[in-house]
Amino acid sequence: MAWYRPTYRPMPWKAEKDAYKVWLSEIILQQTRVEQGLPYYLKFTETYPTVRHLAQAPADDVMKLWQGLGYYSRARNLHAAAKYIDAELDGKFPDNYEALLLLKGVGEYTAAAISSFVFNEPRAVLDGNVYRVLARYFGIQTPIDSPIAKREFGVLANELIAQQRPGIYNQAIMDFGATLCKPAQPLCGTCPLAAKCVAKKENLQDKLPIKAGKIKQRERFFHYFVIDAHGQSVVEQRTGKDIWQELYQFPMLEAEEILQPESDAIATFLQELTQDAKWQLTRQKGPYTQKLTHQKINAVFIEIAVAEKLNLTDTRFKTTEREKLNNFAFPKIIDCYLKDNRLYLSLT
Ligand code: SF4
Repeated sequence: MAWYRPTYRPMPWKAEKDAYKVWLSEIILQQTRVEQGLPYYLKFTETYPTVRHLAQAPADDVMKLWQGLGYYSRARNLHAAAKYIDAELDGKFPDNYEALLLLKGVGEYTAAAISSFVFNEPRAVLDGNVYRVLARYFGIQTPIDSPIAKREFGVLANELIAQQRPGIYNQAIMDFGATLCKPAQPLCGTCPLAAKCVAKKENLQDKLPIKAGKIKQRERFFHYFVIDAHGQSVVEQRTGKDIWQELYQFPMLEAEEILQPESDAIATFLQELTQDAKWQLTRQKGPYTQKLTHQKINAVFIEIAVAEKLNLTDTRFKTTEREKLNNFAFPKIIDCYLKDNRLYLSLT
């Protein structure tokens, strides 16, 4: 704490005492770098200055504002939690760790961060920075992704936390990990903890913290059909338990590999979609790729001209003017395609 200066990593939410804004920043920063998250934090606090503003916003607007940040379940949870606070807690933001844990999308880390930063509750945060500092300083060999790590590191972190100014302590240890005890080339030469650091003494900085295993990645192949039926296109909203829930997409066929445009699977899909209207393949673009934590998405965009007016019988699909495609919240991979093909799609 003697080492800590709030200016080491200046951010607008540091020293913020509005729990709503701290919560927004914490949800935005889950799985997101600070530089990427900052403009979103500013957009959200400006558009929705209070939790009630957020609660009363249409879901599509919230998703649209979130667009580009990825991990869209965060936006859905954010909105659900705001609605819960508005309806059940009369708009009053929860003011302690246990009550914060009841919010959708708030886990132990986020509850500890908000309760310590805003309400001075001595709850230790455990993020990658904290794991690294503790593993190195104490020479802990337990893999940080093993089932017992959370408890072992959690007990230690909660023993260490300063009772008087726990928020400052939590900020300090995270900044210490981010700027000094960095993943690669930690600055041991200027480190105030160097004298007692086990990793430094035993030259284990590169070995600690230990990670047991890398996450296996699943590869998926999406075929999106970009329809042009006299200036009309077709979109659908993703539902069900899968990635990108509630975002929009073009009608999509998933397969075990990238299919040839003339394949039977594509012909059958298009036949059903267009209700036997006459169609013609105009271009194919891609594959575009996007890496998620557990999945790699490969997407091809098959552009189809349909000669007749579409008569969609499947209620999943809806037609839209092609130039209005920009109004939908799409996953990043579709957004990239739209940006690359603005002229073709006549987007403004
Ligand atoms: S001495 Fe090096 S490894 Fe140890 S806490 Fe300091 S920066 Fe980290």
